[in-house]
Amino acid sequence: LERLSLPVDLLAQNGQYCVVWRPDGTILQRLGEAVDVPDPGTLEGQPLTAPPQLMGFLRTRGDYREAVRYGPRMTRFVVGKSLVPERAAMNRLGLLLAASGAGVLMLGLAGGWMLSTRAVRPIGKITRVAQEVSASSLSRRVELDGIPSEFVSLAAVLNDTFARLEAAFAQQVRFTADASHELRTPLSVIHTHAQLALSRERGAEEYKKTIATCLRASNRMKGLVDSLLLLASADAGRLTLDPQPFDVRDVLEECVALVQPLGEEKHVTIAAELGDAEVEVEADMARVSQVVINLLSNGMRYNVQGGRVTACVADDGHEALISVTDTGVGIPEEHKAHLFERFYRVDKARSREVGGSGLGLAIVKQIVDAHGGRIEVSSEVGKGTAFRVWLPKKAKPRE
Ligand code: ADP
Repeated sequence: LERLSLPVDLLAQNGQYCVVWRPDGTILQRLGEAVDVPDPGTLEGQPLTAPPQLMGFLRTRGDYREAVRYGPRMTRFVVGKSLVPERAAMNRLGLLLAASGAGVLMLGLAGGWMLSTRAVRPIGKITRVAQEVSASSLSRRVELDGIPSEFVSLAAVLNDTFARLEAAFAQQVRFTADASHELRTPLSVIHTHAQLALSRERGAEEYKKTIATCLRASNRMKGLVDSLLLLASADAGRLTLDPQPFDVRDVLEECVALVQPLGEEKHVTIAAELGDAEVEVEADMARVSQVVINLLSNGMRYNVQGGRVTACVADDGHEALISVTDTGVGIPEEHKAHLFERFYRVDKARSREVGGSGLGLAIVKQIVDAHGGRIEVSSEVGKGTAFRVWLPKKAKPRE
């Protein structure tokens, strides 16, 4: 074996074994823990009679892996090794791999679950607030503190929507209360006067007076209901226009004549400065007249003793500009933004006293908007007010 230069020490160290057979099948040398190693010269029961073609081969025998080599003169060598320690190591490695795979999977699942719950938590919070918002709790808002930045804009948009909803709802409630209150006053007048008249026999003159009072009150109610109906149809997008060509100067002249009596008591004078050039527009004449009447009558009613109201019209080729200027009490700055709201009055008592309903300017705004125009107010307390209305020469009804 030494002559064959086999690394005998190394073989023994690594738990390997080696067997060498003589040509006659007897064992020449056995090294290491060789257990029942079959002679490759008598494989499959047939003794080898001549040196085989092949130099050797590898084989696995149960728990052993062996290399077979044919030497000179029919000698045979087998070097083998038990696979048990390797198999055990591989089993351990397999178990280790399976355990670490399961560990990684569990970690991944736990991490994914944590991440997804963290990501979904703000949505849950927003959803809860949205569910809690109802007609009775419109003041609820999504807390922006602690919400991840990617959800902040969504929460802010929702908060904004809730705020607008709350404002619209509050306005609706206020509007209903105001409308009921406005209608109740003339209704009580009719009720009280009719009751009083019927409580005992009266003369024809007294009945006449009662009927006249009731008529005035019912006229006021009719005016209010007409205004409310107009605003309701504007809200529903059903404010229909009947555009036709006309000269704005004619409308201004007619309206000035119509409201003139309103100034008699306080000696307020009214004048129209119309110029020579025609200002023709294509618009709903009846509605434009309503705008002018409302502005002129406000100018007369909120005026001072001996005051003045002036109506002017100008044409810049694209728009007609109607201005109504008065020398009246004026409007404080803080009220200007609310003037076109329904039932908004700067001075409630004064408005009622002069027969105002608080709907005049709201109607004006709706009609101007419906024509695709715009309205502006400038005023100075104690000096007077000017309303300016721009009307397109050809009505451009809003979409
Ligand atoms: P009202 O029927 O009360 O006149 P409006 O909608 O026409 O209702 O006007 C709203 C409020 O605006 C009025 O109550 C009044 O206080 C104020 N106002 C309107 N026009 C004038 C004006 N020309 N001068 C001063 N105040 C005005």
